[in-house]
Amino acid sequence: MDEWTTQQRAQLKAALDRRYKELLAMVREELRSTEQPTWLALADRITDIGIESVADVLTEARAVSVDHHVRELRAIEAARLRVRQGRYGECVECGTDIAFDRLRALPTAERCITCQQEHDQAYGGSVLPTL
Ligand SMILES: [Zn+2]
Repeated sequence: MDEWTTQQRAQLKAALDRRYKELLAMVREELRSTEQPTWLALADRITDIGIESVADVLTEARAVSVDHHVRELRAIEAARLRVRQGRYGECVECGTDIAFDRLRALPTAERCITCQQEHDQAYGGSVLPTL
């Protein structure tokens, strides 16, 4: 079990941050393209990165059109929380280290490949994006 290098950690964290910003920008554009006053107000609110959980706010607003982005935002928020707790890269099921290559392909992965396959079987196929 090798410890990751500082560089590897930074690389994954940067990937999470970058994707998060991309998603926020997309969601903001989608909200702005509507005529709904609540959503327009929301578009301005999520510009503020200080918001605790953008995903929660969006779910609250029932912005169905951005639902698939919200799910990914939620996954990224969860991953960032694990980074802060120092548990990022550990499988949530068995606690072993998730392979760096797997995380590089899917930075939000929360299970090692073995547990993910078992999980997918148990829940009847993958509902998550299989990057
Ligand atoms: Zn596992």
